[in-house]
Amino acid sequence: MIPLIVGNWKMNKTPREAKELAKEIKESLWDTEGREVVICPPFTSLPVVSEIIKGSLLKLGAQNMHYELKGAYTGEISGEFLKEIGCQYVIIGHSERRKYFKEDDEFLNKKLKTALKIGLFPIFCVGEELKEREEKKTFAVIGNQIRKGLEGIEEVDRITIAYEPVWAIGTGKNATPEQASEVHSFIRELIAKLYNQEVAQKIRIIYGGSVTPENIDSLMAKEEIGGVLVGGASLKAESFVRIVKFS
Ligand code: PEP
Repeated sequence: MIPLIVGNWKMNKTPREAKELAKEIKESLWDTEGREVVICPPFTSLPVVSEIIKGSLLKLGAQNMHYELKGAYTGEISGEFLKEIGCQYVIIGHSERRKYFKEDDEFLNKKLKTALKIGLFPIFCVGEELKEREEKKTFAVIGNQIRKGLEGIEEVDRITIAYEPVWAIGTGKNATPEQASEVHSFIRELIAKLYNQEVAQKIRIIYGGSVTPENIDSLMAKEEIGGVLVGGASLKAESFVRIVKFS
């Protein structure tokens, strides 16, 4: 499976700044083969980035969407708007959405279903808090998030699961390649139980949490790790490009 590298710009980059960063990334990566590269700017910068990356192999993703396609949901964004702008991917259930906006598993399940229905590829984030890891609840927490998040979903092989331990996001403290691949294996086995072996082999599982140019090579050396979701290090072309070109 081709490794998937996703840049999550979070609430950073004005449209003008986003244009500059997208141009720099495109100059280095426009024809990069052997990697699938997705950039996820804030909603307001999606149109400008979409224009910039046209004609390249770079793909566009959004950081969130509503589960309804239209209606009286002031301030929300529909997946159909994202598609029309050129998004192919959408991040669902990032830990910052779960934590600050109280998005729970049932709510995320609705979003996943809508994203699949309209042909977006969801990147579904799961991960444990530090306290949960210390209390040896990692597998229980992730198992729960996956069971509830995927409930009633058949086309699960169109979903990418991003294992993002909350304690590793934006902290500079990444999970070790061993810790990450242990959880990835657990997720794959769980998918095999919930679905079947064939689906479990097809589904992409990526890691996120303080990925940098310094640690990318050792993370990607693990067979279980199918790519990375990158926050802070995706905000500079140089570091993001180095991550995409891991060896
Ligand atoms: C993220 O935004 O999902 C993330 C993993 O952030 P960072 O790389 O900054 O830890």
